[in-house]
Amino acid sequence: MSAYPHLFAPLRVGRIELPNRILMGSMHTGLEAMRRGAAPLAAFYAERARGGAALIVTGAFSPTPEGSIGAREETMASGADRDRHRPIPEAVHAAGGRILLQLLHGGRYVRRADAVAPSAIASPLNRNVPRALEAREVQALIEAFGRAAALAREAGYDGVEIMGSEGYLISQFLCPRTNRRDDAWGGPLENRMRFAVEVVRRVRERCGPDFVLQYRLSALDLVEDGLTGEEVLHLARAIEGAGADLINTGIGWHEARVPTISHAVPPAAFAWATRRVKEAVSVPVAASNRIHTPEVAEALLARGDADLVSLARPFLADPAFAAKARAGDRGAIQICFACNQSCLDEIFADRVAGCVVNPRACRETELPVRPAARRLRIAVVGGGPAGLAAAALAAERGHTVVLFERERELGGQFNLARRVPGKADFALAVGAYAERLRRAGVAVRLGCEASADQLAGFDTVVLATGVAPRRPEIAGIDHPTVAGYAEVLAGVRTPGERVVLIGGGGIAHDVALYLAFPDARPQSDAEAFALHWGIDRSLAARGGLAVPLGAVPRHRITMLKRSPGPFGTRLGRTTGWALRLELARAGVRTLAGVSYLGIDDAGVHLLVEGRRTVLEADTVVVCAGQEPWRPLASALATAGVAVHVVGGARDARELDAARAIREAAELALAL
Ligand code: NAP
Repeated sequence: MSAYPHLFAPLRVGRIELPNRILMGSMHTGLEAMRRGAAPLAAFYAERARGGAALIVTGAFSPTPEGSIGAREETMASGADRDRHRPIPEAVHAAGGRILLQLLHGGRYVRRADAVAPSAIASPLNRNVPRALEAREVQALIEAFGRAAALAREAGYDGVEIMGSEGYLISQFLCPRTNRRDDAWGGPLENRMRFAVEVVRRVRERCGPDFVLQYRLSALDLVEDGLTGEEVLHLARAIEGAGADLINTGIGWHEARVPTISHAVPPAAFAWATRRVKEAVSVPVAASNRIHTPEVAEALLARGDADLVSLARPFLADPAFAAKARAGDRGAIQICFACNQSCLDEIFADRVAGCVVNPRACRETELPVRPAARRLRIAVVGGGPAGLAAAALAAERGHTVVLFERERELGGQFNLARRVPGKADFALAVGAYAERLRRAGVAVRLGCEASADQLAGFDTVVLATGVAPRRPEIAGIDHPTVAGYAEVLAGVRTPGERVVLIGGGGIAHDVALYLAFPDARPQSDAEAFALHWGIDRSLAARGGLAVPLGAVPRHRITMLKRSPGPFGTRLGRTTGWALRLELARAGVRTLAGVSYLGIDDAGVHLLVEGRRTVLEADTVVVCAGQEPWRPLASALATAGVAVHVVGGARDARELDAARAIREAAELALAL
């Protein structure tokens, strides 16, 4: 029997039977414009179908050009669009899967001068003021959805998902926040939801009963003047009545100021909102958001919160998530830790998505994994993210690999990152790599600082020795109050009450969060998370918003940097705002444009705008970036050993795990 009996129970949806309860939710990949044809998308989805997803939903395609959220027009609006799409469902069907096309009209979220919406109200996410649709245009849009669904059917898709959540056009019709119309499409709920209901009805009419019609419903808007809890349920029933086979739930508009999918969100934190919907309708209902392990999914289904789970980013991290879970191969699943760095942050910058822990995601056709032409003896020095990725992939291709790690455990910088509130799952990534190393037969030497002599006998050496924290040249840097960020995060040093952070980059922000909320992690469970961020679980108020509960920070923290301007501008686009907001709530002070004069018993002496000042400090934590650490490089080069340097050891600027792992993987696939 499966370890996850609920997850692997079949389910009838409309007229089809799904083999399990795992839906691969829609993600925009950046490949939707099909500049290189449909092959990259077809390969991306086919790999996930082979990996066991019961039903896949594509990224967004608009029924009309002005509704497209992509940088180029990504539409299902013509015979040419239909023909371009054909290879995608074909590849998924050949791989044994099923796939729905997502139909999404962005409304005011579209960054175009000709954006349209129910009312002419700009979104906080872009400056465009959309043009209010005329009533006849609303009718035409309903027709356009119907036509797009019919084209999707002709292209070979098994169905469509109509995107009715996250603040896109359908949400904009539904909520008083964005709908100020006084005609048949605005005002009372029946009018505001008419567009959504008519779209569903028209799609069903055009496509017949055996075409899967999935509707993405916002179970919780998390914006002012969103829907009330009762309105959500009323809408769900109406959508079912109009012909939907399956309701997938979405959480929060993009402009919501509550994190909904990042690592700040506890696992399955919004399943309660899905459960309300499930109890109101009789068609199957899917839960989404931060369902990232088979255990989380199984528990959610066993509780009866939903009939299916929708996982999106976990399928970037591991295309075979479902197949591995079914086979009881849990340890080998590469878990998504919801960093958003290579997926959503890239998409919002109009680039192709990827995944920190899986550099092949969305690049399946560019980075095929082929057996090595000649078996080499490879030494990998360093067991951090880059070393782990290099060793795993090289060994999986058939090379003989020995991995040397100076510390007693694998993980490198991930072992520090996992101490930061919300980032505990970084440990799962290390665990999955360790399992891959074991299966691929990598000899792991822990607590072993490799010498040049030891490495001389290998055909190739991969130096992934990482970074060393920068120690700035400030008078008094050796004063007893001064600590390094690594000591603090590792728990070796416990800072006093007044803390000054030297540096204002990503690590300083993380250290500030760690110090502000050390063990009383606000993210530890769904209820505490809701209180901390101001979510009204009774959904009595519109949008489900409440006043956030204040938390008392453990330390008085001041963050410093020499450069002028605001702090945290280089944090992740989809996660940085929440981190800045949390630190502001914790009372963290920031001071930019400082010059460091010295550190002594009185504190940190600074020059700010030409005036001398001193900040009293019990502890000064240095978060001033890193330098590459590659002690063996020159000795190996002198000995004539073939050396490849990857990750932070090659370049510590902008050090990030995504680049380190990508470099390592590209090397390992080329050796
Ligand atoms: P970073 O982002 O480059 O920040 C280094 C900080 O140290 C800067 O604020 C810099 O400010 C200061 N600094 C540099 N040289 C200094 C010197 N000689 N003396 C005094 N101050 C100095 O590096 P990091 O914070 O170590 O982060 C490393 C990488 O990991 C970054 O790419 C970061 O984005 C990423 N990361 C991101 C997150 C996140 O998004 N939450 C978390 C952790 C890490 P001034 O030069 O203005 O003084």
